[in-house]
Amino acid sequence: MNTSKPIRVRMAPSPTGYLHIGGARTALFNYLFSRHYKGTFILRIEDTDQERSKEEFEDAILQDLRWLGVEWDEGPIKEGAYGPYYQSERLDLYRKYLKKLQELGKVYACYCTPEELEAERQDLLKRHKTPKYLGKCRNLTEQEKKALEAQGRPSVIRFRIDEKDPIQFHDLIRGDISVDPSILGDFVICKPDGWPLYNFAAVVDDCEMKISHVIRGEEHISNTPRQILLAKTLGLELPQYAHVSIILAPDRSKLSKRHGATSLGDYRTQGFLADALKNYLALLGWNPGDEREIMSEKELIQDFVLERMVKSPAIFDVEKLKWMNGMYIRNSALDTIVHESLPFLEASGLSVKDKHPHWLKKVIETIRGNLETLNQVGSFSELFFDEKFTLAEEAKTQLLKNKKEVLEVLNALDTLLAKAGTIDLEGFQKLQEDLKSKVTVSDKKLLFQSQRLALTGRLKGPEMTVVMPILGVDSCRKRIQITKSKLSL
Ligand code: GLU
Repeated sequence: MNTSKPIRVRMAPSPTGYLHIGGARTALFNYLFSRHYKGTFILRIEDTDQERSKEEFEDAILQDLRWLGVEWDEGPIKEGAYGPYYQSERLDLYRKYLKKLQELGKVYACYCTPEELEAERQDLLKRHKTPKYLGKCRNLTEQEKKALEAQGRPSVIRFRIDEKDPIQFHDLIRGDISVDPSILGDFVICKPDGWPLYNFAAVVDDCEMKISHVIRGEEHISNTPRQILLAKTLGLELPQYAHVSIILAPDRSKLSKRHGATSLGDYRTQGFLADALKNYLALLGWNPGDEREIMSEKELIQDFVLERMVKSPAIFDVEKLKWMNGMYIRNSALDTIVHESLPFLEASGLSVKDKHPHWLKKVIETIRGNLETLNQVGSFSELFFDEKFTLAEEAKTQLLKNKKEVLEVLNALDTLLAKAGTIDLEGFQKLQEDLKSKVTVSDKKLLFQSQRLALTGRLKGPEMTVVMPILGVDSCRKRIQITKSKLSL
């Protein structure tokens, strides 16, 4: 790869919606690329669609990128030498370039109405021709223009394509690409209100911001020839292009809401970890060239080169992502997982404020092996929270089967607990020995199960050697009383 120019890449979201998985992956690829080559990662907000751009979306995009750990070097909040980084604040620049295009005779006003354009499109489709603008307003005289304006018709500005030679470019992922300019049709670069449209504003900014590589989704590949024509006409130096494969659902259809969450924010609220998502997204359309799947950010940065990008569509498999997230939940620092779990515990109605941090750590340590996403943390840990203690129906039935023995076990356990005062792992073994000698129940299973059912209210769960020390003496005794009264023992 030619890296003689300083590496400058960009992510250019339009704040017209939330950041979705595809956008997050584009940002991540640009970020990893910039870090690998010790370059600069720019965030540019493409907010020229005044109607659809919303501050709420912009805030969410910035927040989501930060959450994912895809930090930009230049852009909103940061600033830098090539700002402003909002297109809405760069209108003078586009005006300057528009003037140049006007002077070159490369643009013209078009007064066609949306209805006329649609009729033209339908007609071409009917005749099995590629829909494009046929150039009705290309050669209007001043008089004709005046007449149309007098009718109150608004006009857009179109770029005039006179080029005959194929537009050629080398895509760093897809190889050499050649496009016949006659399929493009004169395209709109400015709206009636004078604001620039995407192709115009984006190419001006890519060149002005000295972007060295444009790494973006495959869906933009059809825009590239238009952007190249504009840049060449304006005498601007072009970046290199790399179009990354689209993301499909496992059934190879377009990824949509029907396949689950599509926005990054949704994944965050479902309890996916940023590091796991980052790892997973990096492998959608790129691979390290070996079998590795779990990769730290450091490894990703070290190995991220465009040569290993895959051309074929990437399949977004949420089950695989869940598996990966589970791995991260198990293997990340326990303190991190505890911290990340807090909002999910609260959302499950578990009060953590009055709990000792050490106790909480023990709970999370015990249950994290079961989790695929952090929004499951509540259901797996609630058995340790007294306020959530209930006897499941199946537990009741089981306990009532051996009423007499159960009562004997629970009373003996209660007395031993009261005497013990505290309970740890060793204490638990001793307690079990003592209990065995104190009761007439010789069935080991019954002895053990009665304790599990009475103390957790459930048939299954973590080992009692772990559960009892976490619950502690007071909680165990409280639960014994509740169980007894619930069963009228
Ligand atoms: N604003 C465009 C988008 O959000 C940017 C495309 C590009 O990277 O050029 O799709």
